[in-house]
Amino acid sequence: MKTLALLLATTLFFNFANFVHVVAKSGSPLINNYQQRTDEPVSAETTDSDVFLQQTTRARGPERDNSQRIEALLRQMTLEEKVGQMTQLTLEMLAGGKDQAFQIDPAKLEKAIARYGVGSILNVYDQAFTVDKWQDVIRQIQEAANKTRLKIPIIYGIDSIHGATYIQGSTLFPQEIGMAATWNPELMKRASEFTAIETRAAGIPWSFSPVLDIGRNPVWPRFWETFGEDPHLATVLGVAFVRGLEGEDVSSQNHVAASLKHYMGYSFPLNGRDRTPAWIPEHYLRQYFLPTFAGAVHAGARTVMVNSADINGVPGHVNHRILTEILRNELGFKGFVVSDWADIKKLVTDWRVAANEKDATKMAIMAGIDMSMVPLDYSFADILIGLVKEGAVPQSRIDEAVRRILRVKFELGLFEKPMPDPALKSRIGSAEARQTSLQAARESMTLLKNENNTLPLSKNRKVLVTGPTADSLISLNNGWSYVWQGSEESLYPKDRLTIRRAIEAKVGAANMTFVPGTKISRRPGSSSNSTPTNIESEVDINAAVAAAKEADVVVLCLGEGSYTETPGNMPDLYLGEPQQKLAAAIAATGKPVVLVLVEGRPRIVSSIADAARAVLLAYNPGHEGGQAVADVIFGDFNPSGRLPFTYPRSPNALLMYDRPAFETESFDNAGIKPLFEFGSGLSYTTYSYKDLQLDKKTITKQDEIVVSVTVTNSGSRAGKEVVQLYVTDLVASLTPAGKRLKRFAKIHLEPGQSRTLSFRLRQEDLAFVDTNNKSVVEPGEFEISIGGLKEKFTLR
Ligand code: BGC
Repeated sequence: MKTLALLLATTLFFNFANFVHVVAKSGSPLINNYQQRTDEPVSAETTDSDVFLQQTTRARGPERDNSQRIEALLRQMTLEEKVGQMTQLTLEMLAGGKDQAFQIDPAKLEKAIARYGVGSILNVYDQAFTVDKWQDVIRQIQEAANKTRLKIPIIYGIDSIHGATYIQGSTLFPQEIGMAATWNPELMKRASEFTAIETRAAGIPWSFSPVLDIGRNPVWPRFWETFGEDPHLATVLGVAFVRGLEGEDVSSQNHVAASLKHYMGYSFPLNGRDRTPAWIPEHYLRQYFLPTFAGAVHAGARTVMVNSADINGVPGHVNHRILTEILRNELGFKGFVVSDWADIKKLVTDWRVAANEKDATKMAIMAGIDMSMVPLDYSFADILIGLVKEGAVPQSRIDEAVRRILRVKFELGLFEKPMPDPALKSRIGSAEARQTSLQAARESMTLLKNENNTLPLSKNRKVLVTGPTADSLISLNNGWSYVWQGSEESLYPKDRLTIRRAIEAKVGAANMTFVPGTKISRRPGSSSNSTPTNIESEVDINAAVAAAKEADVVVLCLGEGSYTETPGNMPDLYLGEPQQKLAAAIAATGKPVVLVLVEGRPRIVSSIADAARAVLLAYNPGHEGGQAVADVIFGDFNPSGRLPFTYPRSPNALLMYDRPAFETESFDNAGIKPLFEFGSGLSYTTYSYKDLQLDKKTITKQDEIVVSVTVTNSGSRAGKEVVQLYVTDLVASLTPAGKRLKRFAKIHLEPGQSRTLSFRLRQEDLAFVDTNNKSVVEPGEFEISIGGLKEKFTLR
């Protein structure tokens, strides 16, 4: 938690043809059928998610061996210099002031860099610099480092979560939950390539992303920072994110080091509140929460950030089993592990597993923390030096941590090129990046209901646009947008269209009325405590109702303001009363309602959605989200997003799609049944599935199995379908999941076009983790389901 007090201080799409697993019935590679169309300029198809994973993980340049340089440096370093490398401070420790008046304080800089030899700096509090300012700040810091005895460069890190953060004019993409809804890892990779370019342009070589926590509890306020509830979908997108950030050569000016966070189990607190305890047995940790991290470690990610909370009574920062045995010994992670914000201190103040900071520091370092995000004083360095001097922490553990940190600094090319490159400044906010953001926003749009083909609307209807998210770039973007809470209206570019403006551009000002109805504002000082950050209030519901009566159709934009971390905790998932009142009043007019939800987690909207003719889930689609919403509503883009989580019908019915089968069968009661299922999403065309075939009906433990299916665009519009393959283990020694997503492919189909896809499943796709924490495959019957078709096979 960042309390206020603490804080004061080429090719447009990747050519897939090489490893396409999808073959047309005719035998020709399907990728040839793909045509770039004007409305999808950067759209790539994805084929088999598993093939993507394998290929992307392997597509890495050769690693340079810097070990001799590292060892030579280590031999020269004093204990103080080594501990300095393990210390990360926030920028406010060096400087102060707002915007252009922000100044590095030479005395503070001298203390941090010369005296303490600090190895890393992060973030900037509650402001976004211009790229010029960033380059100037980084240059001064690196110059100070260059004057030290060993000239070890600083590694600067920021949270580039959905685009480069804290940089004015940077490109913001859909948040991860929206990227998950695209089911398009190519787009994810492309977006993170731009994120890397823009972050590096500022002189910053390290991003604290991606978030690889699994979103299985929407009460948790960081739900939208995740790729949703499914480990396979999140692993594929997480690997895409990492490869986009790090590229083939992480030292190039196009790439930055990733930080996988928050390792692990952070996202599933028992009570839903941020940074509170979770109870997750290790076999479930391995089944649900480890795969994303394992995938991204294998894909080469350089750093890992630790879970700020606690699992099974063990705070993340002292969990030797997770930080060392699993991460290092099992996964073979070679980079360095950074703590989260002030989390060594919180072992004393919050978790109380240590009586004082000295004990806490020893516990964390011995568990596997290599770098401490201190970030607001020098206690960590002083304490750790003392611990080593008295023999409580062995010198070898310090050397190990420093070796890992230096290795990443060498790989990033910081020793050769520590200074920001002025030539890169123009790379912020490029037209190409913006185009990718638009495409991602469009592909994330998830049409969940469309009674009587209400959508698309024709452009000559009279439209009322109402609701608190209709005219808000803040809602479209959510947290980690220029500033931590995404709440600084003044930093948002003036030329980006809100939903209201984008609809106006479609139908003309004469055909559109906008009445906000209600508003969402920020509670002053709310960052410093657990009170919900956003407050809702009525503005002019009566005026909205009057305008609805004059309109042919109402576009009702509901949802959320911006929040992240503890300020996003909330008492329940219902939308606030003002929004509920507005929705009921609009419904009472009898006018057709198109409900647009701009929100980072599924807020409960059942009665509103039931009354609406159409429901479009926009998530937090970023800067181009207004345009994307309007493109879908008026039919200029055919929606292809699919829900990456299970949308609950009521607050006490938080289910997940892989719940045991009997729950799905028996919870038909409307209160329990999800409002919308995982993987669902409509299109303006229809798709039909036939010929689900398995190449074997019986397999042994050595066999793979090939599953094929034919998908046809049976409607009259071109579109993209997300083909989803699920596996069900019908009987197992641990209650089996009702089904589990194992493969997916997003394919483009012209009207009338058919494609036959084939997916190869391996034994590991049939496995689950047993209570001995081992992955096991048990003989018996399995069922494959794709697009409503089912086939069984037996494993002997
Ligand atoms: C968050 C991390 C973030 C860090 C630095 C913490 O409060 O939990 O996700 O990377 O701050 O901003």
